Amino acid sequence: MDLAFTPEEEKFRADIRAWVRANLPEKISHKVHNALRLTRDDQQDWAKILGKKGWLGYGWASEFGGPGWNAVQKHLFEEECALAGAPRIVPFGPVMVAPVIMAFGSPEQQKRHLPGIGSGEVWWSQGYSEPGSGSDLASLKCKAERNGDHYIVNGQKTWTTLGQYGDWIFCLVRTSTDGKPQTGISFLLTRHEIARRFRAPDQAA
Ligand SMILES: Cc1cc2nc3c(=O)[nH]c(=O)nc-3n(C[C@H](O)[C@H](O)[C@H](O)COP(=O)(O)OP(=O)(O)OC[C@H]3O[C@@H](n4cnc5c(N)ncnc54)[C@H](O)[C@@H]3O)c2cc1C
Repeated sequence: MDLAFTPEEEKFRADIRAWVRANLPEKISHKVHNALRLTRDDQQDWAKILGKKGWLGYGWASEFGGPGWNAVQKHLFEEECALAGAPRIVPFGPVMVAPVIMAFGSPEQQKRHLPGIGSGEVWWSQGYSEPGSGSDLASLKCKAERNGDHYIVNGQKTWTTLGQYGDWIFCLVRTSTDGKPQTGISFLLTRHEIARRFRAPDQAA
C-alpha cells in the first residue's frame, strides 16, 4: 500500500500553505506558537478570514457553499493550518450545528443560519451538559414547553465552552417525559439573549 501523497495532493498542500501563510495574521500565529491566550477577536478574525475564502466550513459540501474537499484534502488543510500557527476552528458552528441544519433543517432554517456560520459572523455554543447530566445525557432535565410560536425554556446548562461569546446556542431540551428517557429530547436553536445567560462570570468578552 502506497501511503505517499500524490503530486496533485502535494500541489494542493503547497497552495494551502501559501494561502495560509499569506493570510494568517502574525499577531495570532505568535500567540498560538507561544501558547498565549487568544481573545474572542483573535478567534473571530481568523474565522472571518477563512469564511471569506469559503474555508471556515472546510468540511462542507459545495452545495452548501463549502469547498467539497475529500478526506485527504481536509487533512492537508488541517495540517497546514496547525503548522502555520492558526487557531483551531471553534467547532460549534461550522462543525457541529451546521451539518445538523444541513441534514435536518428546513430550507428556511438553512438559508437563515448557514451563511452566518460559514462566514464566521455568528458564534455558536453547545448546550448539552447539565449539572447532573454529563455522560448520561438521557437524564437531562432542561425543559422546553411550546407556547404559541415560541418555547419557554427552564433549566440549567453547564460546560458551555466559550459560551460567554455565543450569539446563538444549540441546546438539547426535554420536550416530553413520555416513554424511555432517551426519547422526548429536542434540538433547539436559541438566540443570544438566552445564550449569554450561560456567560461565565470570570470571562469578559
Ligand atoms: C474541554 C471540554 C469542553 C466541553 N465543552 C462542552 C460544551 O461546550 N457544551 C457541553 O454541553 N458540554 C461540554 N463539555 C462537557 C462534557 O461533555 C462533559 O464533561 C461530559 O458531558 C461528561 O459529564 P461530567 O463531567 O458531568 O461527568 P460524568 O458524566 O458525571 O462522568 C464522571 C466520570 O464517570 C465516568 N462514567 C460516566 N458514566 C459512566 C458509566 N456508565 N460507566 C462507567 N463510567 C462512567 C466518566 O467517564 C467520568 O470519568 C466539555 C468538556 C470538556 C472536557
